[in-house]
Amino acid sequence: MKLLNIQIPPETAHAAKLKAVVLDWAGTTVDFGSVAPARTLQQVFGEAGVELSDAEIRRDMGLPKKDHVQRLFAMAKVREAWQAQKGRAPSDADVEEMYQRFIPRQLSCLSEYSELIPGVLDCIKRFRQRDLKIGSTTGYTRAMLDVLAEKSAKAGYRPDCSLSPEDVGAGRPAPFMIYECAVRLQVYPLASIAKVGDTPADIEEGLNAGAWAIGVAGTGNGIGATLKEFEALPQEERQSRLVQARKELEQAGAHYIVDTLADLESVLDDIDARLLSTANSRRSVAK
Ligand SMILES: [Mg+2]
Repeated sequence: MKLLNIQIPPETAHAAKLKAVVLDWAGTTVDFGSVAPARTLQQVFGEAGVELSDAEIRRDMGLPKKDHVQRLFAMAKVREAWQAQKGRAPSDADVEEMYQRFIPRQLSCLSEYSELIPGVLDCIKRFRQRDLKIGSTTGYTRAMLDVLAEKSAKAGYRPDCSLSPEDVGAGRPAPFMIYECAVRLQVYPLASIAKVGDTPADIEEGLNAGAWAIGVAGTGNGIGATLKEFEALPQEERQSRLVQARKELEQAGAHYIVDTLADLESVLDDIDARLLSTANSRRSVAK
């Protein structure tokens, strides 16, 4: 398994093995293609007369949803379309209004898009067998996360803790949800945690926390379609989406990139080997 980012977590010397994984939700463990938030945002903007492409909608995915709405309003195209529609530039009140329109819409469709990504339950079982604790973080609000967590629990996926930006005062790219996972899971140092997610914002969150940052390219935001839709695409299109998704995660600074959660074990082995060898060399220096 290839290490892509050589800037490994600074506390590595104090960690002998991984103790926890912190998993993202949409596009990583549930909602193949991270379809729910993208389509809801696209609809809400579409109804306001602003048509956004998939790529435009997906660029800032993973951030807290209000920040995402704000980023969309910062785009020249959106500002121009708003000006043309309303005869004035968008204001903070418009950001708030669009966000308030987004919330109920997202809540009402979330359970339709809460299905576990195939293979996730097996992966979780294997993580448990490795004695890993399982945390989770999201860009969704607490109320949205509650919907997902309840549905997932019924399907058999129950992380040891689940945190939203509201729980800690700030979302990605800030590292606070991971810090809080460390507290609730009682694991340290942060280099013994691997953050896993499908967006550049997930990678930044992991890096900012001083944890290992692992990108999942083949089931998330970069794929941008439900499993059924994706499987119906021509092979070339599927491949090009995958290549682009990997590239975005690599550019964000991911330590490793996998296609699905099921491919994660060889990465966890590689990290454990690195942590062990660093711990051993530290011990031999101390002698
Ligand atoms: Mg995601």
